[in-house]
Amino acid sequence: MPDQPDPATPPALRAVLQKFWGYDSLLPMQAAAMGCVLASRDSVVVLPTGGGKSLCFQAPALCLDGLAVVVSPLISLMKDQIDALQGCGVAAAGMHSMVTAAEGQRIAAAIRAGELRLLYLAPERLVQERTLAFLQGVKISLFAIDEAHCISAWGHDFRPEYRQLRRLKETFPGVAVHAYTATATARVRQDIAEQLGLVKPAILVGPVDRPNLVYKVRRRANRLSQIREVLDRHAGESGIVYCITRKDVDKTCLALSEAGYRVRPYHAGLADEERRRNQDDFIREKVEIIVATVAFGMGIDKSNVRYVIHAGMPKSLEHYQQESGRAGRDGLPAECCLFYSGQDFMTWKLMLTNMPAEAQAGALAALGAMHGFCAGVSCRHRALVEYFGEKHKGAACDACDVCLGELDLVAEPLIIAQKILSCVVRLQQRFGGEYTAMVLGGSTDQRIVKQKHDALSTWGILAKENKRAIRDWIEQLVEQGFLAKVGEFAVLQVTDTGRCLLKGELAPRLLQPAKNAPARAKVEVDSWEGVDRALFEALRQLRREIAQTRNVAAYIIFGDATLRDMVRRRPATMEEFLQVKGVGQQKRDDYGQQFLARIAGFCSGKPDAAAPASR
Ligand code: ADP
Repeated sequence: MPDQPDPATPPALRAVLQKFWGYDSLLPMQAAAMGCVLASRDSVVVLPTGGGKSLCFQAPALCLDGLAVVVSPLISLMKDQIDALQGCGVAAAGMHSMVTAAEGQRIAAAIRAGELRLLYLAPERLVQERTLAFLQGVKISLFAIDEAHCISAWGHDFRPEYRQLRRLKETFPGVAVHAYTATATARVRQDIAEQLGLVKPAILVGPVDRPNLVYKVRRRANRLSQIREVLDRHAGESGIVYCITRKDVDKTCLALSEAGYRVRPYHAGLADEERRRNQDDFIREKVEIIVATVAFGMGIDKSNVRYVIHAGMPKSLEHYQQESGRAGRDGLPAECCLFYSGQDFMTWKLMLTNMPAEAQAGALAALGAMHGFCAGVSCRHRALVEYFGEKHKGAACDACDVCLGELDLVAEPLIIAQKILSCVVRLQQRFGGEYTAMVLGGSTDQRIVKQKHDALSTWGILAKENKRAIRDWIEQLVEQGFLAKVGEFAVLQVTDTGRCLLKGELAPRLLQPAKNAPARAKVEVDSWEGVDRALFEALRQLRREIAQTRNVAAYIIFGDATLRDMVRRRPATMEEFLQVKGVGQQKRDDYGQQFLARIAGFCSGKPDAAAPASR
């Protein structure tokens, strides 16, 4: 939720925010981060995806004298921010390989004339002698380093070219440098400051939690129908489906398009041209769904991704946070659904064997934590936040499957758990979870019959229970330490605490998937309050038309949050249009007439709807 307008926000900054962005409040930590920029104090700012990092330097840059130089690792990221700035009426440009020589000269001339306010560059371009010499002849207001974790070898995305950025402080000692990143541990933050040679930097760390994301985790049963269930809940909305392998991407994409969904694949095995086209179709909203490996995402700033599905488990919570974090950048509710199986764990584990030995232990621990999260029975927001070393405030988040009560607690967990552990003992602790679940469920699979396990007293002892639920309980018992997976084949063994459970001294918590329909999170219900869906769709359609004519991403025209505010307010005049959150002067002039006409048309076609919806 945005902070209240901060009385300490300098009037000039407030005026800039209102004029160019149409914002009258700041998100958490933005005021402090902007304060550093205005005071020319070096800073390292850690804010989660969607936390509004770019505004932290863009808005103050317009209050300072001179040119703000922004370092960004990817052309797509630069283009996105430049398009967005230009859309708001801010003079911004980028120097990269897609810029022609003639354009480059025009940009240089604009810089010399003091007309350009923000210049975007890749790090390797910025540190070229030619560029540094050129910039030394210009008044520079600040340096902003985006994706700053790339400078640290401790981070998850180290880029050697970022290392050269230490030259900035050497060459421009009087100019403040500000580093921005979404994920940085204390060690990485320190490393960023040191590598850049920052002077007494302010280290600002925003909250890790993303309360607008609704996390749901399920054991994978019928992959396609589980995916379709989520897609159908979000018909017409943009979303990403992540798969672990390229083969899974192709298979899922084909199956979904045969079922009538508008999807595109994305993975490193596709030709560059096709990959780019598919990405553009998604960003411009020609298709709603992209099925991708993790190759997709870096450089995608699309703000209105309403859901991210993981059809397989990622290899760490760092990856999960980053990938699921691509949902709901606009602050509106979005769903993150993760479907996992023990097989995913084994797949990743096998891949880890190719890593150097010293890296393997850490990677395995990260994989274990990821799996623990999946099989976990406590609030997902809490689990994530605590993993990243923060305290979680509040008891129930009301925005995850556990807190929403989608997963029921089993009535007699001790009896069920004792049956499971007894079966593990009867199987002489020599079999994995899948096999044990089959024996408990009374399967007559030929392997079971051949080994005479159908003659065990524990065979079929849980035959009345749901087969997937039995498998889930085994994982939950592992997560709670009553069972352990041992060796290469993850054979189940009863632990010391497990023996206490067998004696009835300890009871576990077991969950089973609820039979009722998925609950709707409060954040989701609230965000649609007073919003007429039909009008919202009509305005979305107009946004899509304009985006196609102007050849930019749809969310560059207006974000979903702005469209919803527009639907609530139903402005009838240009003056009222400017009141909509996210409408600055430039956008009022560019799109006001078209949107007002569409709203008026809608209201006259539906006389009942003419009055503003109650707020
Ligand atoms: P980040 O780079 O931290 O992931 P962005 O800079 O892309 O975040 O901003 C995320 C979204 O939040 C964008 O849609 C942006 O327009 C919006 N936003 C940023 N600051 C504000 C604000 N003060 N009020 C309302 N919306 C904001």
